[in-house]
Amino acid sequence: MRLLSDFPRVSLGCFPTPLVALPNLSRMFGKRLYLKRDDMTGVGLGGNKVRKLEFLLADAQNKGASIVMTTGGAQSNHAMLTAACCGRLGMQAVLLLKDRGVSQEVGNVYLDHLLGAEVVLMDTDDYRVIYEEMARRKTAYAKEGKLAYEIPLGGSNALGALGYVECFRETMAQCAALGIHPDRMVSAVGSGGTYAGLCAGADLYAPDVKVTGVAVDSEPFAQICTQLKAEISGLLELEHPLNGNNVELFDNVGAGYGIPGQEEKEAVELMAREEGIFLDPVYTGKAFSLLLRKLRAGEFQEDETIVFLHSGGAGGLFAIPFPGK
Ligand SMILES: *Cc1c(COP(=O)(O)O)cnc(C)c1O
Repeated sequence: MRLLSDFPRVSLGCFPTPLVALPNLSRMFGKRLYLKRDDMTGVGLGGNKVRKLEFLLADAQNKGASIVMTTGGAQSNHAMLTAACCGRLGMQAVLLLKDRGVSQEVGNVYLDHLLGAEVVLMDTDDYRVIYEEMARRKTAYAKEGKLAYEIPLGGSNALGALGYVECFRETMAQCAALGIHPDRMVSAVGSGGTYAGLCAGADLYAPDVKVTGVAVDSEPFAQICTQLKAEISGLLELEHPLNGNNVELFDNVGAGYGIPGQEEKEAVELMAREEGIFLDPVYTGKAFSLLLRKLRAGEFQEDETIVFLHSGGAGGLFAIPFPGK
């Protein structure tokens, strides 16, 4: 078996991120609610992709890459954080973004430019077209003697997901220090790496903790998670497969990926007004609104302890409007 510490990793973020109680919301719902503040990972506006990029960009550096290419929607937090981290390491970020949704010079697109990334907006809704363009560019860069490293959507391969195996371990250590044991950890699911990493972490460190995923896009996440867990298990050279019983996936895509509704608006407002913390319209707003629905429906045990992962995304608040005013 290989340990997480056996994998090359560049130090980019500020870890551990805080684990904080949500006193007002806990009182409101009669549960013990905690927030894992991965919106405070310390690069750019913070967010979950920093943990993945510590592993991915170490691999890029070790391979001798001077260019890093990745993809996402126009308002991709992952692309923005890739640009921020690449700048720190002296590598050029090339972002091939879907020209759908909000691609004006606002939110993360604005930040991508401030960070000095090359932004290529592609008029397609099909990631296969984007990956073909990535491959074409990689060949062109090679002809100039430059090695380009490709990071998939959301940094969600097994290597990137190791960041969330580590986050689960880190969270459990913080819980132990507080003298609590969570019944469940809740996370948004966008490309799957964060969720698969947390599930693998639970299998390894605390199999009794349920890992509740809330899908914000229509992809077969149960399958994606199983596949990623198998790959994580391969990377870690585990003797036994990761096949714990902690996976619990819900869907809260609503009107579509990146389109928040009234319920998400109310969830973001509630967190802001009660706890002074900003969620985001695309991921954490949707995940938290589903959690609120379940809390209101009384679906959890009386004294349940719940850790909600705040995975970041603040840039989206300045680009993706909620319905109404
Ligand atoms: C990317 C992202 C997620 C989803 O993480 P995945 O690993 O892609 O599933 C959640 N929240 C925010 C703010 C993100 O940017």
